[in-house]
Amino acid sequence: MQTVSTLLTGEWKKRYNAISHLNIRSSIYDMTNKCNLRCKGCFFFSSDEHKLQEETSLGKWEEFVEKEKERGVNLAILIGGEPTLFLDRIEAFYKRIPTYCATNGLIKVPRDRFPDMMVGISLWGDENEEQVLRGKNTFGTSLKNYKGDPYTYYLYTITPRQVGTGTIERIINKISDAGLKVHLQLFSNDEDVEGFVWTPGILDRVRDEMDDMLERYPNTVISSKYYHKIITSGKMLDRTWGWMECPSVTEPMDTRNPQPKRLIRFIRWGADLKTTHRCCTSATRECSTCKDGAAHMSWVMVNKRAHMRSPEDFQHWVEVYEMFAKLYRFIPW
Ligand code: SF4
Ligand code: SF4
Repeated sequence: MQTVSTLLTGEWKKRYNAISHLNIRSSIYDMTNKCNLRCKGCFFFSSDEHKLQEETSLGKWEEFVEKEKERGVNLAILIGGEPTLFLDRIEAFYKRIPTYCATNGLIKVPRDRFPDMMVGISLWGDENEEQVLRGKNTFGTSLKNYKGDPYTYYLYTITPRQVGTGTIERIINKISDAGLKVHLQLFSNDEDVEGFVWTPGILDRVRDEMDDMLERYPNTVISSKYYHKIITSGKMLDRTWGWMECPSVTEPMDTRNPQPKRLIRFIRWGADLKTTHRCCTSATRECSTCKDGAAHMSWVMVNKRAHMRSPEDFQHWVEVYEMFAKLYRFIPW
């Protein structure tokens, strides 16, 4: 049987050692049903997940976070609606658990209150596409708000219409000039917006473009070619992405049989602090075409043993784990 020592030597062994002790236990929290945008293609609103009665008592949020900490969560991923509309709720997490906040970037997280909280800013396409999909060029505002911030990166959702147009590089250049990092993922189009459809040909081309960006902007793009291959092809080793493979399913709702490798203790909580949602996106999304970046990264990460079949496969696993650890700041950029 292959072991870590037979598969990795030298620099790769060091890289493995830097991540092997991390025991990441993440969960996702809807912070509110409100948002200062209504993007076309938003899974939260299109699946009616915002229709819960959100908890408004700060004391209840604090009690809830204490319980989550006791449950073993060591990475709280805050999503929305828009979390920055409720800074006190964010603080309830930040004071207790390593916390990551996803935001559209229109409101700047005050750094005197949250000095080292990781912030991921959503960016869809480019300035023009944001106008079409989000009704606003949020990129212009978020760039001004977060320029030079060492704990911020862009979660850049590439759309099919951008491929081969030069806009992906133009956006990455702007992010680089602002002294920020960027992670790439693909638009899932939860509301079937016309003209934003992935075809096998476009997916092949976007993979090449993502690889190219990683090569040319290694200090800005936090990514790996193996992740690009998986998210564009839906294939990992000899397996195909879909419901029976997804690792990011809420544990108490996971009745799959057989059980795939999955995130341990993962739950996505609604803003009423009682309801749980099926997975890290929405129960109305079609799994076979889901392009969720974190779920694809996790797919690799939970399947460590399967990657221990050759040095190359295991190096791919290390790269993806490293990428995840960097994005949530368990290790430096
Ligand atoms: S900013 Fe996020 S939560 Fe708000 S509408 Fe857009 S995608 Fe949905
Ligand atoms: S929609 Fe995506 S994240 Fe949710 S269960 Fe399906 S594949 Fe997983």
